[in-house]
Amino acid sequence: MNAETTRASDNGIQIGGRTARSLVEEFGSPLYVYDAAVIRRQHQRLISAFDGVKLRLLYACKANSNASVIRFIHDLGIGVDAVSSYEVELAVRCGVPISDILYTPNCVSFAEIEAAVERGVLVNIDNISVLERFGQRFGDRPCAIRINPHILAGGNAHIQTGHIDSKFGISIHQMRHILRIVRGYNMRITGLHMHTGSDILDAETFITGAEILFEHAADFPHLEFIDFGSGFKVPYKPDDVATDVEALGKRLSGRFRAFCADYGRDLELWFEPGKFLVSESGWLLTTATVLKQTPSCVFIGTDSGLHHLIRPMLYDAYHSIVNADRTEGTERIYTVVGCICETDTFGVDRKLTETSEGDILAIRNAGAYGFAMSSNYNSRPRPAEVMMVDGDAHLIRRRETLDDMMATLVDPKLESQAARG
Ligand SMILES: *Cc1c(COP(=O)(O)O)cnc(C)c1O
Repeated sequence: MNAETTRASDNGIQIGGRTARSLVEEFGSPLYVYDAAVIRRQHQRLISAFDGVKLRLLYACKANSNASVIRFIHDLGIGVDAVSSYEVELAVRCGVPISDILYTPNCVSFAEIEAAVERGVLVNIDNISVLERFGQRFGDRPCAIRINPHILAGGNAHIQTGHIDSKFGISIHQMRHILRIVRGYNMRITGLHMHTGSDILDAETFITGAEILFEHAADFPHLEFIDFGSGFKVPYKPDDVATDVEALGKRLSGRFRAFCADYGRDLELWFEPGKFLVSESGWLLTTATVLKQTPSCVFIGTDSGLHHLIRPMLYDAYHSIVNADRTEGTERIYTVVGCICETDTFGVDRKLTETSEGDILAIRNAGAYGFAMSSNYNSRPRPAEVMMVDGDAHLIRRRETLDDMMATLVDPKLESQAARG
């Protein structure tokens, strides 16, 4: 449990110093709320876990790309890992210097990579043919290489990226080919990278991947950093196993220092946390619109759904759900669903304090891949987003309107229709 975030009281749960109820009354429902204190805490955990090495963190901003979140995280001294050219531009508009951005695209056109290089962004290359074109076009302009070490991290099939069938990275088995290209074009490889997907359960798997990069590092004389991507698992269920970053920090730091001694230079150790920084900071607050007793269960219908938080339906992800108005009282078993017209389930057979229509439910761990993966499906607007900083609620994105949703449509007749009322 996050002590900063949850405190049971008669007024229901609190997020960053405000009750869920008061936030919904001020900003409406459904509502995303992020507690900045949790982001700070997670950052501190990484800093302390890796205090023996030159650590550099890049926030994988696809997890939550609200500009205020990016800016807050950058103010902590964290750069940005971008996966699209608009993420690069968004980071720049948030005031992140180009030198603090790493661009790690997958399957984008070479034109997009050229544009990034012209912009001065360091590109992390994950394809042999792109590496070759990069060498032909840019010669010794610095770049990084994303290696797929084929270790199997935890997590489910959707979020594993290290397996043999994965489209990510250049296979470690193609190292001879990589080296032929790098030497052939005098390329300056400043970083080796691996990101084996979300949900690394044990330090051992991680170290196995690290060893593979260390083994090959000597072939790249210009290295400035080794980037271990991310995959830190955060607890979703109460009894979930999370990555023990403290233990990982201890083991990997020691191993990294020994590697640097062998390599002959102190390199930087990079990570690209997304989920780890923002997941637990976020809550999706939604109102119970209807209770529906069926022959098999009691449904709580809500004013949100898979258009706001798709992880349960897309990944079978588990998100804890609590009645944010009532923390004490009899518990009952409910199936919590959204209002989208297809199967739209947030959680099956969940124990919640006895709930009435109109109560606010709070869905935990909604800070990562929540709003970022939201849509207008069923022609419903996206919620507002609020960030709690030192007890103050900041509206960081207003609720969408029908006009927002129609803004990109091209049909002059619609405008005259709207004007007539
Ligand atoms: C998505 C992604 C991350 C972040 O993963 P999390 O599991 O959210 O920490 C880091 N690096 C790259 C290249 C990614 O694509």
